[in-house]
Amino acid sequence: MANADDMLKVAAERTGELAAPGMSSRPSRKVAVLACMDVRLDLYAMLGIERGQAHILRNAGGLVTDDVIRSLSASQRLLGTEEVVVIMHEHCGMNGGSDDEFSEALAADGAHPSWRLGAFTDLDATLRAGLERLRTSPELSARDRIRGFVFDPETGSLRDVESD
Ligand SMILES: [Zn+2]
Repeated sequence: MANADDMLKVAAERTGELAAPGMSSRPSRKVAVLACMDVRLDLYAMLGIERGQAHILRNAGGLVTDDVIRSLSASQRLLGTEEVVVIMHEHCGMNGGSDDEFSEALAADGAHPSWRLGAFTDLDATLRAGLERLRTSPELSARDRIRGFVFDPETGSLRDVESD
């Protein structure tokens, strides 16, 4: 069953609560959050943030990709954020996947994208590598407050990947 028409209908019924007249497009808490697109991550509840406060970037895995660098560059240089929080999680679909198998399946359909799926086996190491890439990316103007957390959807806990 298609959702799009239902979504359009719901939005039409909620214009009052959706409207944000006068709200700034600049995140009030000057923070950008990168997270996996996994449906179990409720970032607003998890992080105590509300609309207007933070940029939310999501992709498969919560991986630092070229497009994440692009978006964070815009977030910082054009919209004033100064802090980045990256959230990956236990039981991620990208964990244990195969880039090669995925690329082969794409190729069978005639697709030869420049990107790879980004499957990984070591969650903490992958997150740490992502943080390192952000900290060494001159596209970002603010690189001294970049943190990485791991969420466990089974327990609801969030841990700092760099505090042992
Ligand atoms: Zn995930």
